[in-house]
Amino acid sequence: MRVHVDHERCVGSGSCVFSDPSVFSQDDEDGRVVLLIDPHVDPDRRQSVRDAAFRCPVGAITVAE
Ligand code: SF4
Repeated sequence: MRVHVDHERCVGSGSCVFSDPSVFSQDDEDGRVVLLIDPHVDPDRRQSVRDAAFRCPVGAITVAE
């Protein structure tokens, strides 16, 4: 699985960080999403990354199997 975040679309709600703070963070200055991993998601993180994509209010997180 690969994860992609769209910084331009992100509105900084923080829902992704709540889903998995080991994968997602927010920029200190503008609050937009920061990806803490390379695009490849470890198997044990897949469900929480899917949850983050589902919860993002603006669809800024996409995953590909
Ligand atoms: S949930 Fe979506 S809008 Fe909110 S910080 Fe994460 S990527 Fe940005």
